[in-house]
Amino acid sequence: MNKNYGEKLLADNSSHATLWAVLTKIDADLAVQACAQGCPHCEGALHRADYPRKVRGVNVEARRDSFCCAEEGCRRRMTPGSVRFLGRRIYAGFIVVLLTALRHGLVAERVAVLQEHLGVDRRTLARWRAWWLQHFAQGRSWRAARGRFWPAPDEATLPWSLWLSFGDDGGKSLLDLLRFLTPWSTRPAPGN
Ligand SMILES: [Zn+2]
Repeated sequence: MNKNYGEKLLADNSSHATLWAVLTKIDADLAVQACAQGCPHCEGALHRADYPRKVRGVNVEARRDSFCCAEEGCRRRMTPGSVRFLGRRIYAGFIVVLLTALRHGLVAERVAVLQEHLGVDRRTLARWRAWWLQHFAQGRSWRAARGRFWPAPDEATLPWSLWLSFGDDGGKSLLDLLRFLTPWSTRPAPGN
């Protein structure tokens, strides 16, 4: 069950670390694939230019995989999609996804316990929720992608409905969901 999996995961810091290690490997693969394609602007070779990222909710100093074009006159930065980060938010992406999803999957008191545990205040959670409902649901990328789901996820209960679209087996469906969300991972998102 997704809701039991999600609640357990968010409540247990050692599970965060285990999941984070898996996600770090997936990101490393995504970075290798993206690098092999060269600079998206000029097809020039890319050089490593990773940068440090603080990750709230997971007790690690992470490095964001990133590249710079080696071509004189271009030199642009290319940051590949990630399953660990969702935009520039300081919380790990899976925490943003799971906490907003569980708002629809669990009773409010249990979500409040998780919120407290993770140190996510009410305003932050409200901002994440507004992002799903407005920015995400109204955006062109989602409008183009949602046709591949049948039945269509209920947009009023995003991202819970979307998570369920990937199955009800907790861990695997979460990884599939985070992979699906990689195009959104490189975009600036308002707030944290
Ligand atoms: Zn370039």
